[in-house]
Amino acid sequence: LVRFEEVQKSYDGEVLVVKNLNLDISKGEFLTMLGPSGSGKTTCLMMLAGFETATHGKIILDGESINNVPPHKRDIGMVFQNYALFPHMTVAENLAYPLVVRKMSKADIETRVERALDMVQLGGFAGRRPAQLSGGQAQRVAVARALVFEPKLVLMDEPLGALDKQLREQMQYEIKHIHDNLGVTVVYVTHDQSEALTMSDRVAVFNDGVIQQLAPPDQLYELPENSFVAQFIGENN
Ligand code: ATP
Repeated sequence: LVRFEEVQKSYDGEVLVVKNLNLDISKGEFLTMLGPSGSGKTTCLMMLAGFETATHGKIILDGESINNVPPHKRDIGMVFQNYALFPHMTVAENLAYPLVVRKMSKADIETRVERALDMVQLGGFAGRRPAQLSGGQAQRVAVARALVFEPKLVLMDEPLGALDKQLREQMQYEIKHIHDNLGVTVVYVTHDQSEALTMSDRVAVFNDGVIQQLAPPDQLYELPENSFVAQFIGENN
């Protein structure tokens, strides 16, 4: 579904923060970009979302180069750490927003919003405003909003970073469950090894703008290809 082809990125002509990246992501896959802070994960996600342009190389979505496609035309849902819900809108209005932008009929919007709220177990919260939600609930709304227009691809950048450990583990399970049920393709960014290993079909371990290893979780653990991967995966596990 997604292909990075010899993608490089430097900000303002400075050093390359993504160096010659080649990566294929399959339809329905849960792929995690894992690596230390500054290793280039978010930059890759931003290029995929269209908020940053590659300095060199191509990004292909569904067979077409999207280098020149603006973000809102990419059919990609996004969830970030600070959820960025619209504070002046209710939960239902937040969820409806991507559908209104896409000029969907009122009846369809209602059905979809209801379904999305059920999916994240917030059936009774349609009329609340973001300030009246807990961190976990707000993040569930953000997940629902990224999925409500049934995008081809969902990008998540440290979506659980602001939550406490227990809630984080619960949300990991919920996000994985939604992914498995919907069969949507997810590209997930985290620096948390155990999160990556629990949730992903494959993990791309980044360091210094380079993928050090791309493999299913059990392989990373059992057959790390180099000492960086061995050490990084071993930490906190
Ligand atoms: P983190 O987990 O801390 O977000 P990351 O692996 O996602 O790290 P990036 O955010 O992609 O890493 O950053 C890679 C490098 O690019 C860093 O050295 C960072 O300082 C630099 N960088 C990121 N965004 C910009 C920007 N807008 N302008 C200039 N440099 C940037």
